Amino acid sequence: MRKLITFLCLLLCISGCSNIPTAQREHFAMDTLVTFKVSGPNAEAAIDAAIAEIDRLDALFSVGNPNSALSLLNAGADCTISDDTAALIDAAMDLCVATNRAFDCQLQPLIEAWGWYGDSPAIPTEEAIRDALQRKGYDMGGIAKGYAAGRVAALLQLRGIDSALVDLGGNIRALGCKPDGSDWVIGIDDPMGKSAYLGTVAVRDCAVVTSGINQRFFEQDGQRWHHILDPKTGWPAKNGLVQVSIVCADDTLADGLSTALFVMGAEEAISFWRSGVYDFAFILVTDEGSILVSEGLNFACNLPYEVIPQ
Ligand code: ADP
Ligand code: MG
Repeated sequence: MRKLITFLCLLLCISGCSNIPTAQREHFAMDTLVTFKVSGPNAEAAIDAAIAEIDRLDALFSVGNPNSALSLLNAGADCTISDDTAALIDAAMDLCVATNRAFDCQLQPLIEAWGWYGDSPAIPTEEAIRDALQRKGYDMGGIAKGYAAGRVAALLQLRGIDSALVDLGGNIRALGCKPDGSDWVIGIDDPMGKSAYLGTVAVRDCAVVTSGINQRFFEQDGQRWHHILDPKTGWPAKNGLVQVSIVCADDTLADGLSTALFVMGAEEAISFWRSGVYDFAFILVTDEGSILVSEGLNFACNLPYEVIPQ
């Protein structure tokens, strides 16, 4: 009898799990491929709403759109600033101060000088770099996807979804856990390109964001030039790191920090983490192939790696 009850319970559990409606979709926005995996009531409608929200924020934050508030501010024109734009500028300015300007949301002239808004980026002249460093203009490319991921997570939760994985091109948001109750297991890119993933990190209810030399780059003079710029030199950051992944409960912060720590380099990034200004975990990969992982992260990897104590 007890065996029969156990069997029935198991059957109920399996059918219960498979009854959770799961929807998956892909959508192109914010200059990247966005993928959704959403489980819960009305999952398809929840994805529709999430896509509408991402498209709304994309138009709001785009400096390619001459009518966006950021473009108008950059042009010195009068404009009304929405709550989202104000919240994003606030978060970016806080990060700029906290990271001693490793993260700088006013690099628009410099990013333009490198040609990143067009189809053919190229090395600017030293004079063009000097000139661009003297001017200021908002570009939220280093933080906007994280902000959008956070808004999407909040929207899905409001709709009763408590299990989802949303990926905005390297900005991953794990909502809750997998429908079977286990952690989400997120692959961390291999910046050396030897395999698809360097390792995995098991998480629930947080963001996992990766920035690195392979996200966006062009080749010129036999070298690779990537899109994360050092605000102090005007050149692509070259401080010994090839990739930074951040795990953090706050999506906006995770995105901004992945860019900031990349600019800082390993030594400064580790002291910044130890200073405790923000609560986050990291996986750093150096140009020599070393993998540095902050203590306490549920990281799995077949290669040797160093755990960095608090
Ligand atoms: P991705 O956009 O590939 O996810 P990041 O989050 O690291 O990568 O953001 C890089 C983008 O941020 C660049 O394309 C540019 O728009 C902007 N950016 C570049 N350097 C900096 C910097 N030092 N601080 C803030 N934003 C930056
Ligand atoms: Mg970023």
